[in-house]
Amino acid sequence: MKIAALVKQVPDPNAVRFDPRLGELVPGIQHVVNEYDLYALEAALRLREQVGGEVVVASVGPARDALNRGLAMGADRAVAIEGEGLPGDAWVTATVLAAWLRRERPDVVWCGQETSDSGTGSVGPAVAALLELPLVSNVVGWEFRDGRFEIEREIEDGHQFQEVEPPVVLCALSALPQPRLPTLRGIMDARRKPVERLAPTELDLGPDALVPLVRWEGLRQPVAKAAGVVVQDVPPDEAVERLLAFLEARGLLG
Ligand SMILES: Cc1cc2nc3c(=O)[nH]c(=O)nc-3n(C[C@H](O)[C@H](O)[C@H](O)COP(=O)(O)OP(=O)(O)OC[C@H]3O[C@@H](n4cnc5c(N)ncnc54)[C@H](O)[C@@H]3O)c2cc1C
Repeated sequence: MKIAALVKQVPDPNAVRFDPRLGELVPGIQHVVNEYDLYALEAALRLREQVGGEVVVASVGPARDALNRGLAMGADRAVAIEGEGLPGDAWVTATVLAAWLRRERPDVVWCGQETSDSGTGSVGPAVAALLELPLVSNVVGWEFRDGRFEIEREIEDGHQFQEVEPPVVLCALSALPQPRLPTLRGIMDARRKPVERLAPTELDLGPDALVPLVRWEGLRQPVAKAAGVVVQDVPPDEAVERLLAFLEARGLLG
């Protein structure tokens, strides 16, 4: 079975800091693999261990460390799609990934439910829509039996069980089994595994494929709200008195 795992490199959520004067993240923050993507990768590796085949780990945008981590965990090969116009927005990312996946034709695409930085949760569903594949989101458990996936999904009111046949796109949550840590042997082996570098120009993309639909303006801190006063569990007369005093103290009464 051919299994693709989509991973994104994100700023370390435990270290990330915002500089309000510059309107930017403080530079020099370490990047890590998006947490859900590690769970997706672990699921991909377990599936390969069960049924055989290969795991290809892929990323759009700068992600050398993330791909190395994937290879060290046990993926067979990596694909880095980098170039002008990338990563663009989530639509561009999904379009580029779909163009590459159309070429690879995997049986299963594992991705994370969402990222810890941009967090639109839209790349997996957009990839599935572009490839006209079924999608199961919020995956917290799975088994592969008799050519079908039996999937457990987390929904607001509990857990839902679904069956689906490959090819399919599956979006992982962190209730799945813990991602394995790369072993020393895995890290050494990763150095000899193939890493394919692709430019978007090498993919079958339309002329507008790299034009983002959404443009970032920059980062801003939310404006701090003035503290309010809650008046409750008091008789109505007293509540009115307190409210008037509050308004008077702020010069809001004419
Ligand atoms: C320098 C820079 C500039 C940017 N400019 C813009 C901009 O102008 N407008 C805008 O809207 N966004 C912009 N982004 C955000 C970026 O394009 C999105 O983060 C990205 O497209 C994915 O969206 P997401 O993080 O919401 O992923 P989600 O949809 O939350 O991710 C779901 C899953 O999809 C997979 N996935 C997501 N991204 C990738 C990836 N790159 N490679 C492989 N798999 C992936 C992962 O498995 C992930 O768990 C910019 C990012 C950078 C680094």
